[in-house]
Amino acid sequence: MPLTSLIIDGFKSFADKTIIDFTKGITGIVGPNGSGKSNITEAIRWVMGEGSAKSLRGRNMKDIIFAGSATRKPLNRAQVTMIFDNKNRELDFPADQVVVSRRILASGDNDYQINNQSVRLRDVRALFMDSGISQNSLAIISQGRVDQILNSQAKERRGIFEEAAGVLHFKQQKQQAQGQLAATNDNLIRINDLVKELE
Ligand code: ATP
Repeated sequence: MPLTSLIIDGFKSFADKTIIDFTKGITGIVGPNGSGKSNITEAIRWVMGEGSAKSLRGRNMKDIIFAGSATRKPLNRAQVTMIFDNKNRELDFPADQVVVSRRILASGDNDYQINNQSVRLRDVRALFMDSGISQNSLAIISQGRVDQILNSQAKERRGIFEEAAGVLHFKQQKQQAQGQLAATNDNLIRINDLVKELE
């Protein structure tokens, strides 16, 4: 499921619509300090559903909208789009190309789209859940993250391995099934009580 393009428009230092095409192999992004390299990985995490403004180095999610410069007025919206080649159907979505997009307005209103259809955050998260590239996965290692992983508690580290191994999805399904089982057991107890009363 190669990421073929990333389109950043109005996000942080990217006042102009910027298209980054990824070809086969490794892509390196270089630039002086403060030129916006980290903003690119943050844009990727944001479109994949990042909900914490703090982890994007802001106080409020609206802080990710281009705030203006000496020569440019601030913008009132930001949009980031990721385009995946999905011919091998590694993303569980019935299309050869998957286009995931997130937009935020100055009011703070936020929306997501998958292939031009409005979707919920949970749909975006579900799309990436088994792919190993979800917003908190080890596919994206920001500055300081290596230290954080090495210093993490055993439980947190186990979660990281479980996500990398694709176990997390099954764990959630198991929890859901256990909830349904418990509800069904309650219903059975109630039915048995009713049967006893009628006998
Ligand atoms: P380094 O190599 O030092 O880690 P970098 O290339 O990763 O730097 P970033 O941290 O991605 O750079 O970019 C920081 C720049 O983004 C700063 O110049 C900052 O002013 C700018 N920036 C951050 N948020 C906004 C915003 N909302 N509007 C305009 N510019 C912003």
